Amino acid sequence: MVYRRQPDSFAEMSDISKPLRVLLPQHFHIPRLEVRALQTAADGTRKYLFGLSDGETIESVLIPERDHRTLCVSSQVGCAQNCRFCLTATSSLRRNLTQGEILAQIRDIRRDLAAPPQLTNLVFMGMGEPLANLDNLLGALEIITDSDVGLGFANKRVTVSTAGLVPQMLEFGRRCRASLAVSLNAADNDTRSRLMPINRRYPLEVLLEACRSYPLPPGRRVTFEYILIQGITTHWKMRAGWCGCFSPSAAKST
Ligand code: SF4
Repeated sequence: MVYRRQPDSFAEMSDISKPLRVLLPQHFHIPRLEVRALQTAADGTRKYLFGLSDGETIESVLIPERDHRTLCVSSQVGCAQNCRFCLTATSSLRRNLTQGEILAQIRDIRRDLAAPPQLTNLVFMGMGEPLANLDNLLGALEIITDSDVGLGFANKRVTVSTAGLVPQMLEFGRRCRASLAVSLNAADNDTRSRLMPINRRYPLEVLLEACRSYPLPPGRRVTFEYILIQGITTHWKMRAGWCGCFSPSAAKST
């Protein structure tokens, strides 16, 4: 019950035997992330700066909604994707987060929330490209969505955002039921390649074909994200339904 009850030590776990309470700390410990800084905006959004054991830092952002909270989670220290509009890209990739470091952001912030609304939604849109750290991400998601001994988040309330790593995207769909969002940001290859170098490896036609064949659970959709940058991604007229959620069957007609 390390994730459910959030004890600070094994000694607090009165639901396990006393010999086990003595044995566990000899082999494991329950680490907490160090909060280096915490900023709260006027609308209640909280930005956490966490220090990691090797001195690196990551950010997590807690966003209040009308009746729940959403947490934006980091998956890497820095990022190798080099998207032109992104501050994280300026520090390049330093390392992947471990499974424990991904989980700890959610576990520690949820523990910090004394009053409702509850933290019910997660978006992997913080620092890093989550699908470039696929094994640790999938390991963390197993615990995040485990309703017996894990954190108990519903799969449909967990969204992983990718810049468009096509092979990892399809593998993610085969191995996980969490939701997928694709950071699109341009409607033509020239513009998208300038903004997001990953587009040179997986251009729009390849990316959209992967969206069409993505193994979605019934009733679910792939979400597209689109940043409006004046004069760069706003030179064409937006078509209703283009930006936001769409289903792979709808993609065939766009
Ligand atoms: S993938 Fe995400 S974190 Fe990485 S550079 Fe692009 S926008 Fe930034």
